[in-house]
Amino acid sequence: MNISHIEHIGIAVNNLDESIKYYEGVLGLKCYSIEEVADQKVKTAFFMVGQTKIELLESTSPDGPIGKYIERKGQGIHHIAFAVPNSSEALKQAEERGVQLVDKVSRKGAEGLNIGFLHPKSTQGVLTELCSKE
Ligand code: ZN
Repeated sequence: MNISHIEHIGIAVNNLDESIKYYEGVLGLKCYSIEEVADQKVKTAFFMVGQTKIELLESTSPDGPIGKYIERKGQGIHHIAFAVPNSSEALKQAEERGVQLVDKVSRKGAEGLNIGFLHPKSTQGVLTELCSKE
C-alpha cells in the first residue's frame, strides 16, 4: 500500500482546551488548527511534529466513537494514521489481505483528507487509519 510516513497520531482527550494547554505550555508545540468533524462527533486540534501531526480528539457527544472510547478506556492514544498515495486503493488491498475494515470506502476526514479505518481486531490491536490527499 506504499505507506510513506506516519501522518498523525490520534489521541482521545476529555477536554480539548485543557489538553492544548499541556501540548503548548509543557511540550512547546503550537496548535495550528481546530476543526469539528460533525459526522464523527469530534472536535480536533492539530500540532505539527516534524512531518507527523498530533491530532487531539474531543467528543462532542457521549454516543460518538470518541465518547464511547473514553468511557471504556479513558483518555489516551486512540489510533495511528499512515499516509498512503491513495486511501481507497490501500483499503482495498488491506481487505484483499484479510483485514476487517471499519470503512469499506474512504471518506472525508479532518483537513480534507480521504481516510479509512482498519479494525483493530485485524491489526494486532491498533486502530489504524489510512489517509491520502487523493
Ligand atoms: Zn486520525
